Amino acid sequence: MGTKSFFIDTTKCTGCRGCQVACKQWNELPAEKTVNRGTYQNPPDLSSQTYTLVRFNEVLEGDNIKWHFFKDQCRHCISPPCLIEADNQKVEGAIIQDATGTVVYDLEKTQKLSFQKIKESCPYNIPRVNPKTKSISKCTMCVDRITNGLLPACAKACPTGAVQFGDREEILKKAHVRLDELKPLYKEARILDEEEVNVLYLIVDKPALYQIAERDDRSSLLALKSLFKPLSVLGIGAALLCQLPSLRERGMKKD
Ligand code: SF4
Ligand code: SF4
Repeated sequence: MGTKSFFIDTTKCTGCRGCQVACKQWNELPAEKTVNRGTYQNPPDLSSQTYTLVRFNEVLEGDNIKWHFFKDQCRHCISPPCLIEADNQKVEGAIIQDATGTVVYDLEKTQKLSFQKIKESCPYNIPRVNPKTKSISKCTMCVDRITNGLLPACAKACPTGAVQFGDREEILKKAHVRLDELKPLYKEARILDEEEVNVLYLIVDKPALYQIAERDDRSSLLALKSLFKPLSVLGIGAALLCQLPSLRERGMKKD
C-alpha cells in the first residue's frame, strides 16, 4: 500500500461539522462540555477527545462578512518532526510512520514522552495530552479503516466533497486541477506545504485569516534531521496496528 493523502478543499466546506462527529463516532471519543462563546466553532480547540475541528473564521470583505472554514487536524508530515522528537527522547514505538505515510501515536507509550517537547516540535500545534492518563494523541488518519480498504470516517461523512482521500499522486493531481480552476478568481489561492505533508489544504485567502499554525524555520530544521533516518520510520506498521482496536473488536463497523 503506497502513500495516502487527504485533499481538503476549504472552498467546498460549509461548516456542517459532519467530519467532527464522524471522527468522534469512529474513534469512540466523548463529547466535551462547552459553553456559548458567541461562535459556532465548538469545541473551542483540538483536544485529546477531539482529533479534528472545523475552525470558523469570519472575514470582513467590504460591507460583507464571509466565512473561511478550516478543518484542522494532524497533517501527517512526510518527515514528521514529532516522530523525530520522540526518537530523540528514546521512547521506541511511541510515534511511528507506516507504509501509508500515516503518523500514529501509541497511546500507552506516549505517556513516557515529554508532552511539552512533542507539542513544541509540531509546526502545526496539533498534539494534545489527556490530563488524566498523560497519553498524547491526534488524528490517526483512521489507519485501522484505510488499511482495510475503507475511507477515513471524516472523508466518508463529508457531504460536499470538501474532504477527499486517496493515493498521494492522485490526490496531488486533484488538488492542482482545483487550484488551476480557482487561481483566476482568487489571487491568494494556494495549496499549503504540499511538499511537506500528506494533508493538502487548498485555501483562497491569506493563511493568517484561517486561524491556523504555519510551518516556520524551526520545523524545517527539524525536518532536515530526518535525513538521519529515525528508527521508527517504516517497517513497524504491523506493530502499530496491534495497538489499535481492530475492526472485529469494534463490531466490524462498515463505512
Ligand atoms: S502535524 Fe504535527 S503531530 Fe502531525 S505528523 Fe506533523 S509534526 Fe506530527
Ligand atoms: S482521519 Fe480519522 S482520526 Fe483523522 S480526523 Fe478523519 S476521522 Fe478523525
